[in-house]
Amino acid sequence: MARYVPVHCEACARSSLSPPTEGTPICSFCEAPARVVPGPIFRDEDWLAFAEVEQAVANAELRGDAAAALAEELQQELERGRDPLQVVQGTLKRVPALANARPALVSAPRRGIQLLVVQLNARTRATSADEGRLTE
Ligand SMILES: [Zn+2]
Repeated sequence: MARYVPVHCEACARSSLSPPTEGTPICSFCEAPARVVPGPIFRDEDWLAFAEVEQAVANAELRGDAAAALAEELQQELERGRDPLQVVQGTLKRVPALANARPALVSAPRRGIQLLVVQLNARTRATSADEGRLTE
């Protein structure tokens, strides 16, 4: 089965899924070099949900410290054993701009939160070694 890693493109500020590659992954929006975002491996059936959550986070303009804070909080909620559906519903209430991702988030809340965290981490300032290479 095909596997994909999440990648983020600084050129167009979008995230997409890329087949794992030895070299630099390519942004599927603008074909610029992208960087791999730490996170789970995704499969074919994740494409639609990934795209929906990505679009919503892009529209919500969540980035930087705000994105990092929300990602941290979502992860903590899951670690505390909160019901993923409640976490999703609370997040949708607080960040109404994410409403377009509601179907993807509510139908599989745990995966939805993972998707959100990946999207949010993608939009924080990168701490990976890739960053140095990209900003040269
Ligand atoms: Zn791009």
